Amino acid sequence: MTRISDPRFNKVAVAVAATLTFAAVTAFGVAPLREAELPAPETVVESLVFQPEIAETPDSFVQTERIRRGETLASLLERLGAADADFLQFASSDKSARKLLQLYAGRSVTAEIDGLGRVMSLQYRYGNLVIDGQENATRLTIKREGEGFVAVDEPVPLDRHTAMAAVTINSSLFAATDAAGIPDRVASMVADILDGEVDFRRDLRRGAELRVLYETVREADSLDGPVGTRVLAVQLLNDGERHEAVWFERDDGKGEFFGFDGRGMRKAFLRNPIEFSRVSSGFTNRRLHPVFGSVRAHKGVDFAAPSGTPVRASGSGVVDFAGWQNGYGKVVVLRHRNGVETLYAHLRGFASGLNKGDKVEQGEVIGYVGMTGWATGPHLHYEFMVDGRQVDPMKVAMPESEPLEAAERERFASHAEQVAVQLAQLDPLRIAARFE
Ligand SMILES: [Zn+2]
Repeated sequence: MTRISDPRFNKVAVAVAATLTFAAVTAFGVAPLREAELPAPETVVESLVFQPEIAETPDSFVQTERIRRGETLASLLERLGAADADFLQFASSDKSARKLLQLYAGRSVTAEIDGLGRVMSLQYRYGNLVIDGQENATRLTIKREGEGFVAVDEPVPLDRHTAMAAVTINSSLFAATDAAGIPDRVASMVADILDGEVDFRRDLRRGAELRVLYETVREADSLDGPVGTRVLAVQLLNDGERHEAVWFERDDGKGEFFGFDGRGMRKAFLRNPIEFSRVSSGFTNRRLHPVFGSVRAHKGVDFAAPSGTPVRASGSGVVDFAGWQNGYGKVVVLRHRNGVETLYAHLRGFASGLNKGDKVEQGEVIGYVGMTGWATGPHLHYEFMVDGRQVDPMKVAMPESEPLEAAERERFASHAEQVAVQLAQLDPLRIAARFE
């Protein structure tokens, strides 16, 4: 591929790398978290035990329900086992309690209901959570008091939990992490972090050893899943090779992954806009077109994936087009810096609310795999363009991050050493046994 060494593109690529900010963070779909001293490692991943703050009395019971799509407060109360017209009246008229009526599907509500079906108290967590140091999750509590109710807004405490796990991979990455109780999100992040070094579909050998240090952030005493997850370090021993990465916050406050030797791992573009899919048709200037039966160039890459699979922005950029184009069907075109564009075709649909001009971050879901336009089956057709000319995204040179400054290197070395010592303490066999 001669275009890869096109000096103009190399210049473009380096410029893209230099102007990236939080790409390394957003690539993994988590909000930037404050860099803190690493807490003491825990070697077992345990789910938190739900301990409601509401005391259960013999006459009452405490129940938690997840809000369903399109649910009304009345139907939610019914599922909670309540029959309480006064509560409904209060919740729909009180200024603070009215927030309760914004019932977001998937969130949970915990209520104490007495023997008469009356709501004694009810808790609802709402509000956007920003995790960059501001712990501003909020919770609404409505309590029965005398003849009426009072509504109280309060911040929800967050539980930060650092976990370490070591697993031996005998079939697939996900099978191994599932068996060890490691969240799927963490497994996906690991695949992204080592993207370009290890192809987890093809390169894994039986008996590969994975060690991972990660952090989850949850709302305290909530049944909801983590509101933030991030990998702090990963180490993979596979086929006689060692692959590793450690998260490090640079002097400018921006974090990214480095090898333990201080080599940067940040990439301006993900190779693969779909997690764990395979290339079904590569980039070529001549191929037999599956629909037209004639020989045409295929100036993109096809990824086979089931209909509905999320498609991720391979790099941060701006939506240049989201709509229908003949042949391409439903298509998204993203404009990145310095004349780079990426195109995602045959989509079944777009991420909700996606519009021309929107900013998207690397890794953000922009649409879903489909077979709109001229397609014989569900797949993603992906193009990577430099100054309007398609290049092979599988071969194009990905820019590297800025090397560590001398001052950063010392801080990095001690951080990396600390993490390496933690990871080395893990014995995969012993830990695997505890999960059996
Ligand atoms: Zn294609």
